[in-house]
Amino acid sequence: MDTRGKAIIPFRYLSPGDIVIVPAFGTTLEMEEKLRQTGIEIEKYNTTCPFVEKVWNRAEAISRNKYSIVVHGKPQHEETRATFSHSAAHSPTVIVTDMAETIDLAKFIKGEKPSKDFYNIFKGKYSKDFHVEKDLERIGVVNQTTMLAADTQAIADYLKNVMMEHYHLDENNIADRFADTRDTLCYATSENQSAVYGLLETKADLAIVVGGYNSSNTSHLVELCEGKFPTYFIKSAEEIISSKQIHHYSLHKKKEIATISFLPEKKPVRIAVTSGASCPDALVECVINRLASFFKTSKTSEAILKEFAS
Ligand code: SF4
Repeated sequence: MDTRGKAIIPFRYLSPGDIVIVPAFGTTLEMEEKLRQTGIEIEKYNTTCPFVEKVWNRAEAISRNKYSIVVHGKPQHEETRATFSHSAAHSPTVIVTDMAETIDLAKFIKGEKPSKDFYNIFKGKYSKDFHVEKDLERIGVVNQTTMLAADTQAIADYLKNVMMEHYHLDENNIADRFADTRDTLCYATSENQSAVYGLLETKADLAIVVGGYNSSNTSHLVELCEGKFPTYFIKSAEEIISSKQIHHYSLHKKKEIATISFLPEKKPVRIAVTSGASCPDALVECVINRLASFFKTSKTSEAILKEFAS
């Protein structure tokens, strides 16, 4: 399946001897069951990331204390679908994509919107039998691990404050209504994003972000860089056609486009380079070497690493 859950190999072609790999972002309980019924052993090739499992386990743990789960994620993304499925098996669950939706959700918590509107606004994003009047009385927030950690934190902080105000609570008793799930944020994504925030402080002329065009975490890095630099999202060094031309993915046009004269005329040119969480180092190194080759005085990354080592 692709990252949006579209089958590339239809189920009818699968038989018990086949190997089906469950990817790092996991899969839904429904899919696990379907595979089991086909006679496929999923445990052997289950590569679900332990940090994603940690999110599921925490959702299950807080559901035992009667908290509902708010998932910050993209509803169509496979990881969010998987997390939603695991969470909904134990507790009422609703997905919010961004702060605007969270503000909408808060209006139902505070009773500022009629309950019936919830089912329209959050259509397709809440679990079966979700009861808006009672299922938002105790909540906890978890996320699709590749969302911006800062955004998830802002959403969690916002909802915590809403619960505090609405139920007249303070830091000492907020746990009655709001579960602390901060430690479920994936540190790998978080560190990668923090490094990019650091990069934004530098005086670069442009940014190159390397990663898969369907990668959620890479797209977030592109969005961060775009706020500060002209940014080019590429999947490999081959996209840098020459010192004059680059082929890169536009998140806004949702297709690959070409840009001429992407390198400024000035000297020296400062380029910020970063990559998605699962982008192989070798790919990034090829990109750096390709860029370096356009500048006569530049050294290869190997030569620079040697200088640092000596
Ligand atoms: S982003 Fe984090 S949680 Fe998600 S697969 Fe990578 S390491 Fe695991």
